[in-house]
Amino acid sequence: MKNKRFETKAIHLGQVPEDHTGAVTTPIFLSSTYRVNFPGDESGYVYSRWSNPTRTALEDTLAVLEDGKYAYAFSSGLAALNAVLNLLQAGDHVVAVDDLYGGTHRQFEKLMRKFNITFSYVDGSDPANFEKAVNKNTKLFWIETPTNPLLKLVDIEAVAAIARKYGILTGVDNTFATPYLQKPLALGADIVLHSASKYLGGHCDVIAGAIVVNDDQLAEQVRFNQYAVGGMLGPFESWLILRGIKTLHLRMERHSFNAQKIVEYLETVPLVDKIYYPGYNGQTIPNKMKLPGGIVSFHINTDLETVKNFVMSTEVFILAESLGGVESLINHPALMTHASIPKEIREEYGISDGLIRLSVGVEHIDDLLSDLRTAFSKIQTKIKQK
Ligand SMILES: *Cc1c(COP(=O)(O)O)cnc(C)c1O
Repeated sequence: MKNKRFETKAIHLGQVPEDHTGAVTTPIFLSSTYRVNFPGDESGYVYSRWSNPTRTALEDTLAVLEDGKYAYAFSSGLAALNAVLNLLQAGDHVVAVDDLYGGTHRQFEKLMRKFNITFSYVDGSDPANFEKAVNKNTKLFWIETPTNPLLKLVDIEAVAAIARKYGILTGVDNTFATPYLQKPLALGADIVLHSASKYLGGHCDVIAGAIVVNDDQLAEQVRFNQYAVGGMLGPFESWLILRGIKTLHLRMERHSFNAQKIVEYLETVPLVDKIYYPGYNGQTIPNKMKLPGGIVSFHINTDLETVKNFVMSTEVFILAESLGGVESLINHPALMTHASIPKEIREEYGISDGLIRLSVGVEHIDDLLSDLRTAFSKIQTKIKQK
């Protein structure tokens, strides 16, 4: 099965029919503890914080899909992030992209700073910016690509090459792209992180996270953090993510198709003065990305009240945080997902009040387009009345 293609591996690898009954779908093993053969026997399952058969099936699948050797599933993306940050020591320094996921920024600044770990933020679209921010304590480069919500792209290969020169680890939050679109480990990164709550799960019905690595020693440290802290993923959630992954390739194709059509439409809307989408405006797409993905951000040039009216006017697009599900969502980053970042810093990064982020779902494209058309015509009428 190892030499099969992504779509086949997503469905079969790590998920062989169960021995006892022949069940084709990996069962949800709810047992917290397991019979051992002798005192001190650790050859099989022992205790479910340590390992659980449903979680193992998910971890094996994730490792294969990311071209990694080891994967660890956590109770959320942020729990997984914490296991990465626990690899650091007091005094260490991290260089990260500037328009980070809000919760990642919060964990860096509100939790890790008090342990004397420091962070610098750079525009990741030029890899040289990472090198400029390196100091003698730098231990980790942290990348999101595409970034959230401005969809900037970071050349993983180039940044990882710089990191290796200085003995720095490179971690990539691959939540937006998923392994179907890009594989950071194959490009030289050391750590891949997922919020599996998004595209991997794919149905907005589960919170989960994961880390994938190749290096044996690094794997051991991540595994230690997983069972020492106890932020591992439960069996039911593991099963939901496994189920989601089986259709990941189908969904990513449709998300990307729909998003591209929406970008084409937004280009024709006079109120829209900026569109953010991978490959848009002649931007080259690095990382051998297979498709540009399903997230589109854009800026409308009007006052905050009108922007609020717009995001409350859609019917198919649901006003909600999060992304990556089959349903289309609309989000106002400044007031929602990125509200925890102070206003001045946010605006410096370009996350202004007129910015809107769409998580384009897999509905019929014509329904999505007419939904946006209606919302635009509603605010246009209001603007005329003013
Ligand atoms: C949602 C998200 C996270 C956090 O994951 P949770 O599962 O919500 O804890 C981290 N990074 C990115 C890019 C995300 O979108």
